[in-house]
This record gives sequence, structure tokens and C-alpha cells, in this order.
Amino acid sequence: MGNWRSLENVDTIVVHCAATPNGQPFTAEQIDSWHADRGFKRDLTIPLEAEPFTLHTEPPLGHIGYHYVIELDGTIRSGRPLNEIGAHAYGHNRFSVGICIVGTDAFTKRQWAALATLVDWLICERIAAPPVICGHRDLSPDVNGDGEVEPWEWVKTCPGFDVKEWAENKFVPLDKHILA
Ligand SMILES: [Zn+2]
Repeated sequence: MGNWRSLENVDTIVVHCAATPNGQPFTAEQIDSWHADRGFKRDLTIPLEAEPFTLHTEPPLGHIGYHYVIELDGTIRSGRPLNEIGAHAYGHNRFSVGICIVGTDAFTKRQWAALATLVDWLICERIAAPPVICGHRDLSPDVNGDGEVEPWEWVKTCPGFDVKEWAENKFVPLDKHILA
């Protein structure tokens, strides 16, 4: 039960990128093997649930830190079940959901559509409170304490686009970040 959590207090959706070259078809299995190398381990006693948009594979991935991976063709792969604490945003894992998009800062239209579908479903069906939707970089420490995490304060640039702008813009893909 160590890594199990209730969804009651989950209130944040964190978007990541895989930091792989844009347009290259990296998979959830590859990310799983990188996370295995980093020593991450899933709690396989927590089962994956059937979900409307996500693709499960058997056996489930054993290491991955994200709850979902969005591959280049728009497939949404299951990583960890929502009831398992993720390993994707240091200090923020217990109360957040981690979504990783394959690429660095430009994504296919299918990926953008899948991200919108997934986040919308999480908000409508799974997360009780209206969640904060942010990028990994937005969780960097606010060094000068002015209430805003500015670009110079980003520990990393993940996910390469402004998630809050995208969410405020009703999940319309950001032009500068659409893979041509
Ligand atoms: Zn990240």
C-alpha cells in the first residue's frame, strides 16, 4: 500500500515533455526503461483501471514515473494508475497527475488533441476539485518570491510550451508548437 493514494486530494495536473527530438516516435516502453535506469519502480499491486482513451499493455510497465504518455500518433499510453503516486515532479508527486508528451517543444496535431481529451476527461470525471493545470517548469521555486515563476527561475524548460496559456485558451494547440 506504500504508494497508493486516494484521488480526493489530487488537485494538480503537471504536463511534461519527454525531451526527445521533436517528431521522433519514442514510446512509453523506452521511457519506462530510462526510468528503470534511474531506479524508479512501480507498485504493481495497484491495478490499472480500464479508461476510455488509454491503451494498456500487458504486462504493465514496471518503472515509469508518469501516469500517461502521449506518443507521436496521439496514442495515450497508461503509465501509473491514478491511484499510485507518480515520480515526475519532485516535491509535488503526492497530489498531482503527470502527463508526458513525446518530443521537446513541438508536437503533432494528434498529440495536441489527445492532451486536450485526456485533461478534459481528468477534470470532468476523475479529479474532484478544479485542478491547477501547469507545466513542470512552473513548479520551479519562485526564487525572488514575487508570486510568479519566471523563465530565469525555471530549473528546466519542460515541457517547452506555456501550459497555462494553453489551458486558458481552452486547449487550442499553440501555433508555435505544432509540428509541421
Ligand atoms: Zn518534466
